[in-house]
Amino acid sequence: MGRLVMKFGGTSVANIERIQNVARHVKREVDAGHEVAVVVSAMSGKTNELVAWCTEASPLHDAREYDAVVASGEQVTSGLLAIALQSLGIQARSWQGWQIPILTSDAHASARIVGIDGSEIIKRFSERKEVAVIAGFQGIHAETGRITTLGRGGSDTSAVAIAAALKADRCDIYTDVDGVYTTDPRVVPKARRLDKVSFEEMLELASLGAKVLQVRSVELGMVHNMPIFVRSSFDKPEDIDPHGTPPGTLISSEENSMENHVVTGIAFSKDEAQISVRRIEDKPGVAASIFGPLADANINVDMIVQNVSEDGKTTDLTFTVPAADFVRAKQTITSAQDKIGYARFDSETDVAKVSVIGSGMRSHAGVAAQAFAALAARNINIRAITTSEIKFSVLIDAAYTELAVRTLHTLYGLDQV
Ligand code: ADP
Ligand code: ASP
Ligand code: MG
Repeated sequence: MGRLVMKFGGTSVANIERIQNVARHVKREVDAGHEVAVVVSAMSGKTNELVAWCTEASPLHDAREYDAVVASGEQVTSGLLAIALQSLGIQARSWQGWQIPILTSDAHASARIVGIDGSEIIKRFSERKEVAVIAGFQGIHAETGRITTLGRGGSDTSAVAIAAALKADRCDIYTDVDGVYTTDPRVVPKARRLDKVSFEEMLELASLGAKVLQVRSVELGMVHNMPIFVRSSFDKPEDIDPHGTPPGTLISSEENSMENHVVTGIAFSKDEAQISVRRIEDKPGVAASIFGPLADANINVDMIVQNVSEDGKTTDLTFTVPAADFVRAKQTITSAQDKIGYARFDSETDVAKVSVIGSGMRSHAGVAAQAFAALAARNINIRAITTSEIKFSVLIDAAYTELAVRTLHTLYGLDQV
């Protein structure tokens, strides 16, 4: 007997029939003797609709009220799943974030979990054999008593945090694909499912664009050493062998990772914007005069390229910011033009960042060089490059994203045979 957290994403609870299917998955684990807490997302599309309503009501709205609105999607699915479970003869009770409570910071719309009291849920496991059905994505800020949400995709984080708080044996993430693939299988049909991925690699994949798991959930998995198993919710519960290993991907500490490819996967993101500040005076302090105000405005700068100046007097600085912050970044820099002292501001918003990830890169030279040659052969121009120990990223025109991802996928031998 073990203790499990099972998380179901939006498409897995998109309608009553699918919620009933989820209930049968939960019953399967309960029948196998496990203590189970379930975490659910809102029905697919629901959160987008709620977000759009807030914007329609007022483009600039109070983040506390945004949270009050968008947290409601998960309230509905948690109650519905509890009903579906009860109708299968299983003891079940729904829980909102504030009822547990799941305590968070007060950073509304992107709150961080600071503590979870799992004692009542654990008590009910033993005393009542009760399944806890928990609304994902939401928590409460203790001092103000206000509802908070954890950022888009935050139910993954709820699930891993709850698994850690309940000292579960594993956190199972049920979604609309049957695992983590070498790249998004909806974009590259030849993508291969990975049996095992290390936390470290998954952290890079997620933060560089693979939205199958929210980044913060992987961080928590790593901190608490909580194994995360990504699997499909579309399998028929009745067809699953209770003693077999189902298809899926285990994310765990690197020591357990069997696959030792140089490259593990490729991620991409079109949510980038490129800014070039041209002919800045080449003297100490100019980078600080640009990035200081951006940091003050809470804008994350990612890739940075500074040209070596030809004449020793002026230079160009190119960098990327999240597309959502582009307008603010432009305003921040242009309004400080006199202080920075530059001649021209150029920008491009139709760009994409393609990243190649693999812990094997630590011990292999020339991995990135191969990519540059392969992209050049396809006539794909590279606008900027960044590298770190287990990944490198290139910034290219967004129109070439799919071609670049497929080219690199084949280059590193990731294609399914
Ligand atoms: P859920 O609603 O269950 O949380 P998401 O839509 O958030 O599901 O995440 C699942 C999606 O992530 C998949 O449908 C897939 O298109 C996308 N995805 C992106 N990169 C990958 C990857 N490397 N492996 C698997 N899925 C990926
Ligand atoms: N429903 C929320 C969202 O769409 C949280 C989640 O699905 O993980 O972002
Ligand atoms: Mg998700």
